[in-house]
Amino acid sequence: MPDRLERAVCSTPGQLLSELTADAAGRRMYALIAELYPLCRSITGDGVRKSHEILRRVVPLRSYEVPTGTEVFDWTIPNEWNIRDAYLKDPSGRIVCSFQEHNICVLGYSVPVRARLSSEELRPHLRSLPEQPDVIPYLTSYYSEDWGFCLPHRVLEALPEGEYEVCIDSTLAPGSLTYGEVFLPGETDEEVLISCYTCHPSLCNDNLSGVALAAILAQELQHCALRYSYRFLFIPETIGAIAWLALNEGRLDRIRHGLVATCLGDPGCSTYKKSRRGDAEIDRAVLHVLQHSGEPYNVLDFFPSGSDERQFCSPAFDLPVGSLMRTPYARFKEYHTSADDLSFVQPEFLGNTFRKYLQVVSVLEGNRCYLNLNPKCEPQLGKRGLYSAVGGLKKQPPNQVALRWVLNFSDGKHSLLDICERSGLEFSVIRAAADTLCECGLLAPADAPAGSHEIRN
Ligand code: ZN
Repeated sequence: MPDRLERAVCSTPGQLLSELTADAAGRRMYALIAELYPLCRSITGDGVRKSHEILRRVVPLRSYEVPTGTEVFDWTIPNEWNIRDAYLKDPSGRIVCSFQEHNICVLGYSVPVRARLSSEELRPHLRSLPEQPDVIPYLTSYYSEDWGFCLPHRVLEALPEGEYEVCIDSTLAPGSLTYGEVFLPGETDEEVLISCYTCHPSLCNDNLSGVALAAILAQELQHCALRYSYRFLFIPETIGAIAWLALNEGRLDRIRHGLVATCLGDPGCSTYKKSRRGDAEIDRAVLHVLQHSGEPYNVLDFFPSGSDERQFCSPAFDLPVGSLMRTPYARFKEYHTSADDLSFVQPEFLGNTFRKYLQVVSVLEGNRCYLNLNPKCEPQLGKRGLYSAVGGLKKQPPNQVALRWVLNFSDGKHSLLDICERSGLEFSVIRAAADTLCECGLLAPADAPAGSHEIRN
């Protein structure tokens, strides 16, 4: 099966599920992560713009710039940060910390420094993780001016006394915050929002895995016939989400469902963090997919820390946005350290998560209410070739139990997902039954234009 599907005709997310293997999707996501990994990203700066250029080779990403000083609700877009090089030399002239070796060794948003300092003067600017002495911690100081180096605790402890040479070749100056959007128009203006963040430097699970998932999902869905419109956000975490919400406040009522994509490639099982509403259709769709995955999973109620769901689910907006992850941020030891690298995420896990996202999309796309056009007692299925006792059927007979569930509850009030939840049947089975009944004229979408279907007596 080819990695990238070439399609002459539009397919649907449901068809994609049968055409695109998790393996192939996982390999593509991993390759994209590997390409983005070396770049030094932050909440602003050229690393984000270069990342957008790479993403534009995959999807039609549109970049937006929000100038420094722009007020977005209670926040202000900060100065833009760029860095070219940084190093720390010990008294013997040996480089003990090098930006060229690992970009997280510089405290994010460090102001420029060129100085010679004693070890005592230097010490407050050095950060390490004593409980994980071999890894570099990832730290930032976006909103208070500071500088520093992050290094393995083992290296820090072995530093000799004496005079150190410090160089941080950075700039912190007015510029802009860069974010990106991929918009895929569907039949309706109602939108599904998939959001990821682009502000982390060389860190894979948190959150290049989210960037790769959003990009590859958008790349696949752009060939599909879609009911909803899809908006993929590539934003710096927190300030980017706040800026996007402030700039798009008048259009937020279009968002029907949303997911924040983060931490998607580690070996842990899937975790779903519910939206603040807790019972939104997106919550039910994700839970349905996880319940039928045959794999272990965790479900978390909404809590107001974590990633950008904090902003999307803030009380004035309360958008139906959850977060489908594997191991959540801060719950894996590699989190925010140099160990969250290309060996920590694996194509197998990325692909597994991708498939679940595609299944969720497939549920959202197919979940609607239908009307049974023959509601007075059961219709006779045999004369329509729908009864499995009939011999000589060319096709596999439809699932009788699913047909009965769909017929009974298609009263214009119960959606297919409602019927799944009552029956315990999987969405694709219920959806196939609904499609079959529509083909036979026994069922019609409840939201079809008035007069387009008639109840048969
Ligand atoms: Zn993070």
